[in-house]
Amino acid sequence: MPSTDAFQFTSIGIVHSCYQEKFGIPRQPGLVTMATAHLELLPPYNRLDTLDGIEAYSHIWVQFVFHACISEGWKAKVRPPRLGGKSKMGVFATRSTHRPNPIGLSVVKIGKIHQQDKRILIDLHGADLLDGTPILDIKPYLPYSDCLPQATSSFTPTTERSQPKPVVFTAKAQQQCDAFSANLEKDLYTLITQIIEQDPRPSYLANQIDREHGISLWDLNIRWQAKDQYFEIIEIEQVK
Ligand code: SAM
Repeated sequence: MPSTDAFQFTSIGIVHSCYQEKFGIPRQPGLVTMATAHLELLPPYNRLDTLDGIEAYSHIWVQFVFHACISEGWKAKVRPPRLGGKSKMGVFATRSTHRPNPIGLSVVKIGKIHQQDKRILIDLHGADLLDGTPILDIKPYLPYSDCLPQATSSFTPTTERSQPKPVVFTAKAQQQCDAFSANLEKDLYTLITQIIEQDPRPSYLANQIDREHGISLWDLNIRWQAKDQYFEIIEIEQVK
């Protein structure tokens, strides 16, 4: 009789993303639309026929492993950032990464599919995934059943998404941003602005101003701080 309480799954893919550490990754997909990532199918699933028909869809669900926090284990009650870190909720009432089975679920926009020798890569737009995230499954997003305009949450839009503060670049950061944008052929300005607007700081630091933070995007370290009425990008350095 096969076991019904223990399962072993293998990754079908891996994510290559700009986010090199957890800090700075948006809390849900679709919030930083400028972030692009690639989902690479792993053998034996690196075959175009596994994706046959996917071009009919604009978005997919990806099921993935929160691989970077497995060692931290799970908690029955967690502090969702949208509650300002003040109140706890049951883990199953949240999208926390500290779950008994550390599985994440994100809906992401798909772009082109590339074949490079035996590598199959799917472009993802606006993903909330760390570089190296293992993917367990891909499914098409079905608007006729997955889109639920009648669904409710007692959290108001202001608790779900607070009003963003403007993001301002110092003259030095702006110059560096222009240079790195040209090298990477990416709109780094919009990407950084969208990430910092989300205010990635943990809630216990949310009222602190003038404290410096760093975010890793590819091999770049983005140094920034919160001011009273805005966020300031101080400098963008290349990490050797
Ligand atoms: N949309 C997913 C969900 O609802 O299951 C993820 C939500 S979770 C609150 C989003 C956070 O997961 C991100 O801000 C990032 O810090 C973290 N994260 C993303 N990829 C991860 C990974 N591979 N391992 C650990 N944490 C990860």
